Amino acid sequence: MRKVKLIYNSGAGQSKFTYFLDTIIEKFMENDIEVLIYRAGDKDNLDEFLKESDSENLYGIIVAGGDGTINRVVNIMMKYNINTPLGIIPAGTSNDFAKHINMPNNFYECIDKILSNNVKKVDIGKVNDKYFINVCSAGLFTNSSQKTDKNLKNALGKVSYFITGAKELFKFRPFTVNAKIDDEVFQEKINLFLVFNGSSVGGMTYFSSGSSIQDGLLDIIIIKNCSFHEMGGLVAQVFAGRNLDNKNIVYRKAKSINIEKVKGNCDRPDIDGDEGPEFPLNISCIENAINMFL
Ligand SMILES: [Mg+2]
Repeated sequence: MRKVKLIYNSGAGQSKFTYFLDTIIEKFMENDIEVLIYRAGDKDNLDEFLKESDSENLYGIIVAGGDGTINRVVNIMMKYNINTPLGIIPAGTSNDFAKHINMPNNFYECIDKILSNNVKKVDIGKVNDKYFINVCSAGLFTNSSQKTDKNLKNALGKVSYFITGAKELFKFRPFTVNAKIDDEVFQEKINLFLVFNGSSVGGMTYFSSGSSIQDGLLDIIIIKNCSFHEMGGLVAQVFAGRNLDNKNIVYRKAKSINIEKVKGNCDRPDIDGDEGPEFPLNISCIENAINMFL
């Protein structure tokens, strides 16, 4: 009998997935797939559960959780060079990556999609020695997820990010970076930068069709230092898919980007909603890094 390894994060996304667990196991078993379950949490040993995952009869590694749980699994897959396809069930607070690959919100429809066995190679971002699936960022608003209290996250979902983000606004000061985007080098005083593998952050998609996880390139958006008044308008327009051609925005597609902080303070960079490495950041796109059910 074929098998899947199913990892779920019981604390994610107001814990709604756990109510569906039995029916989901049933759905796999109806398709002659046995489910090996792992409950991810603070004190788990996910490495051990996943490290030998390249056997013939393993159909897939399925993650039911948000971007943070997917990020953990992808880092383990990269570490052990695992080729078994990854399937995503969007069961977190923020499901930015799932949104990018158009996974349905309905869990049963997700399983149908995974069972249709459309496997493709996709890109993964790398920053220093860590991997990210969706976004690496720093500056204003970018680490709201990281800073938001877990209980608040579970109680309010994505609204909690905006509350945390609004608090940040009053303390924020711009910072200066040296950036190298492929061969282009410049220094700039900035409010924030976002380096995307996917196309969504904090539940918002930045534009509908401009980015791909299959083009070997990262999408880079830098918002220069400008007034909060200007910035509010810019952020709204960027996420509405307009106005990337603006004097306060640097927008590029590139294979690699190095960012060094030279002046000012900036909180620790964020990857996929959790704490990332410290500056300087060496970010690159690893083309065709893993197999995924799309
Ligand atoms: Mg890309």
